[in-house]
Amino acid sequence: MIDNIDKLIEKLRPRISCTITDTELMAQAKIAHEINKLKREKKAVILAHNYMAPVLFSSIPDFVGDSLELSRKAATTDKDIIIFCGVKFMAETAKLLNPNKLVLLPSLDAGCSLAESITADNVRSLKKQFPGVPVVTYINTYADVKAESDICCTSGNAAAVVESLHADTIIFIPDEYMAKNIARVTHKHVIVPMLNDNETVSLEVDYEKPKDSMIIWNGKCEVHEKFYVDEINHARRKYPGVVILAHPECSPEITEAVDFVGGTTSMINYVEKHQASYYLLLTECAMAENIAALHPDKNILRIYSNRCPHMDRISLENTLFSLQKHRYQIEIHPEIQERARRAITKMLAVG
Ligand code: SF4
Repeated sequence: MIDNIDKLIEKLRPRISCTITDTELMAQAKIAHEINKLKREKKAVILAHNYMAPVLFSSIPDFVGDSLELSRKAATTDKDIIIFCGVKFMAETAKLLNPNKLVLLPSLDAGCSLAESITADNVRSLKKQFPGVPVVTYINTYADVKAESDICCTSGNAAAVVESLHADTIIFIPDEYMAKNIARVTHKHVIVPMLNDNETVSLEVDYEKPKDSMIIWNGKCEVHEKFYVDEINHARRKYPGVVILAHPECSPEITEAVDFVGGTTSMINYVEKHQASYYLLLTECAMAENIAALHPDKNILRIYSNRCPHMDRISLENTLFSLQKHRYQIEIHPEIQERARRAITKMLAVG
């Protein structure tokens, strides 16, 4: 961690000077310096998702990563306070793994379209319709939904989690695109239930517990649903040799058309290990900036500006306020905590 503000500015300038002006850089570095001082005094740890804005990503986190890596860090930290620079379901996961610690989220508006696409009642309805079928829940959900699930997964381990169950049929919620992408990899047949007017689940097809099926939900990430195959074709024509990487929250048409599919950390590892004339990342746009900052030798195309409005709620300003005032504290009902934690720890055991 950098103690001296001049050194912090020196570190940040080459990484983020293309995204903000020098005056802004000085002002942001001052806030980052304040946060780093206070973080030490209060014995806090800052976890930041790969989608954080470049100035935050490069200045205050103790750990950066995807949901799975940050869940693991949250599970092993010895600090008293965890500040989660990410969205609410991530901070909830940190709280589930650290029930006795103070877990703070700098903005309560940092939600997620996937997490908001499904309720605990919806899951109960699915379980009633398909008794005995195990429920795999993507980590991008709230704690009450996780509490209704058998096991969680992240984009990094979803296929491994599905395969670990050795079940003929599973319920996979709530990301429709990820479910279809995982079904392709694990060779499963997809069944799409629908909600009827009174919010109970009905099916498009007759369900007779066929072998190797995934019953899925229709949630979508509002960022990853905005990529199109035409744009991929255009990029390939314009940038010869470009390697295109996509997040599994993108549609199956997109994941079929690209060169590599993986979660955010897999994408970073891919870029680090391969040589290509250009890289195009079909994911939240801050990540391309963050990888480009870390690897100035790589030609990372920045032709999309698909910014997640929820991740964008987290700033250096509200992170400082969060640390100063202990806002906003994540609380989860004890009964929900216990059941949701079980689903997460099962996932962590799979790897
Ligand atoms: S990028 Fe998509 S999945 Fe991630 S927090 Fe934003 S809306 Fe949710």
